[in-house]
Amino acid sequence: MTEKEKVINRYRELIKLIEKYNYHYYNLDKPLVDDSKYDSIIHELIDIERKYPDIKAADSPTEKVGGFASELFSEAPHDPPMLSLGNAFIEKELIDFDERCKKKLENGYAISYFGELKFDGLAVEVIYENGRFSRGSTRGNGYTGEDISANIATIKDLPLSLNIENPPAFLSVRGEVFMTHDEFERLNIIKESIDEAPFANPRNAAAGSLRQLNAGITAERDLKIILYALGKIEGGIEISNQKQMFEYFKNIGLPVSDKTVFGSIDETKEFYNYWNQNRHTLNFDIDGVVIKVNEFGLRDSLGSTSKSPRWAIAWKFPAKTAITVLNSVDFQVGRTGIITPVANLDPINIGGVLVKRATLHNFQEIERLDIKIGDSVLVKRAGDVIPKVVETLHDKRPANAGKIVPPEKCPSCSRELSREDIYIRCINPECEAKKIEGLKFFVSKSGMDIESFGPELIIRLYNAGIIKSISDIFNLTKDDLLKVERMGDKLAEKILKSINSRKRIPLSLLLRSLGIRNTGDHVAKLVARHVKNLKNLYKITREELNRIDEVGPEIADSVFSFFNNKDSVKIIDSMIKSGLIVEEEQAVKDVAASVAGKTFVFTGTMNSFSRKEAEDMVEGMGGRASGSVSKKTDYLVAGESHGSKYDKAVQLGVTILTEDEFLSLIGE
Ligand code: NAD
Repeated sequence: MTEKEKVINRYRELIKLIEKYNYHYYNLDKPLVDDSKYDSIIHELIDIERKYPDIKAADSPTEKVGGFASELFSEAPHDPPMLSLGNAFIEKELIDFDERCKKKLENGYAISYFGELKFDGLAVEVIYENGRFSRGSTRGNGYTGEDISANIATIKDLPLSLNIENPPAFLSVRGEVFMTHDEFERLNIIKESIDEAPFANPRNAAAGSLRQLNAGITAERDLKIILYALGKIEGGIEISNQKQMFEYFKNIGLPVSDKTVFGSIDETKEFYNYWNQNRHTLNFDIDGVVIKVNEFGLRDSLGSTSKSPRWAIAWKFPAKTAITVLNSVDFQVGRTGIITPVANLDPINIGGVLVKRATLHNFQEIERLDIKIGDSVLVKRAGDVIPKVVETLHDKRPANAGKIVPPEKCPSCSRELSREDIYIRCINPECEAKKIEGLKFFVSKSGMDIESFGPELIIRLYNAGIIKSISDIFNLTKDDLLKVERMGDKLAEKILKSINSRKRIPLSLLLRSLGIRNTGDHVAKLVARHVKNLKNLYKITREELNRIDEVGPEIADSVFSFFNNKDSVKIIDSMIKSGLIVEEEQAVKDVAASVAGKTFVFTGTMNSFSRKEAEDMVEGMGGRASGSVSKKTDYLVAGESHGSKYDKAVQLGVTILTEDEFLSLIGE
């Protein structure tokens, strides 16, 4: 094979690999490799294309936006297209970018730049027609995305009507949907409790949560949105630069970042350096900064390639990885008894944080990494949150490297462990480690959400013999709390107040806090809505549980077994004796399914509310209220003496609801 043929083979191989990685990253929200590995492959491809321009494929990944629009959603075309961004990894590449801009705009032109954080999430477009939310979509391949209106409408920070008297007839804006570290951790705790694989990082968690077929699931996850670009505006409003656009967005109620810089290229360098040092102070991930030419007129002169605009560049932060040595492995017992191997490392500074421990996830992962005690390992502060071991450097393996032997007995209670596919689990219900983890979960945000009651306090109270089971939490007195080190009067009162506020709760809140396997927040709500009260929960059969929509046999089995176990019954009884009142689950307004993302038009006179009140109700539930009937209208709600809108709805085949039907749809 000639040298050139070898290059061609490698080139084709790289394209195939990138396509595979793109599919897993954009379509399945489950990346196969981490971003630095992906970026290095893209770089190898770019290098080949530079050296051998004649072999470059017309549809090379370097020429197009990497995403897909899944067929599971309806198509959402983008006009203008939603492009990607060129990247800079070192300062020289930023300087080159500035030079390129100046050259194109005739040498010496003083360019003002606008610098923003590069949010590590999922790019979306949101459209407002006459000031009302009308569509939300993903970027997809840049030209066509996925219509995820119902999901986007559930994001609390996104207004469904713009705060402006004379809104533009049409406004499309672009931005990023992302997840905070707190929410990411909360979701992964729930995932662990239902034995599901955790999300790899907040970006995938955000993308996976947003691209749900059931918008109800999206609504239960606290997603954030930040808008940073204008697609199109119609209706006489002129915006001529990024700075002005930010002001306008802010004024009309669109969420924008307050961390930006405006100035020369040198000022954007300072901005980059500052955030490279201080990114850990943010409660969300950023993977760099984006530097954009401020004036839209100049942007037009610079234009775009098929993949990215020439007037902007993403200056990425260096990957947060470091090489260190694995000294030993601890085995941690989780709440459900799953044993997690945790690596003890030679302490190493990664991106300003001292890392001593990193997760190894499970024993299958240890095999996959082929890792031994004494190995040099590549550690990554994944998604800026929990450090993890991502690679073993086998060529550095010392002769005396020791095998990691999975434990046979529980490190906490010493009882025999059981093996269940990739997991090793302690099944002793009396295991102390499991009990402590169960207590930590009970008070946590994903459980009862008791304020100021952290995991440290649980350990101290448990070790002092003050709490042994979750029912003891409701019997805690101020004196009990004051026995614990570093507990002051004020804090004790605050904790007691918070516990008291959880003495009257809906059934679903109790259900999700009990730590039943396979039963997180969503399942708890489904079951509670079905059975309505605690009494029925004790009576329900496995079969009936299984018949609840989205409840499979495993969930049915876990819930059934829990409520037919005399120890669990004893704990719940004792909580009730301590004053816990479990309220009937309200017939829930199934916001997501029936209202969110749907367009309602009201006509005629209603008996129970004014039209404005009805519109507010719909919008409060994530739906849209529109003044006129069109093909996009989902429901026409017809009151008394309705007019021409009714005829139009009949003509277009729009579903028509009476006032009573509307009330029952929204659960009133
Ligand atoms: P990109 O993430 O490098 O940059 C473009 C994106 O930045 C925009 O689409 C937008 O979503 C986002 N962005 C965030 N803040 C912004 C702001 N203030 N202004 C403008 N845009 C902002 O490019 P991409 O095409 O979205 O993705 C490519 C990157 O994704 C790769 O470099 C890699 O890191 C990652 N990726 C990873 C895998 C994998 O398997 N791990 C696969 C595909 C892509």
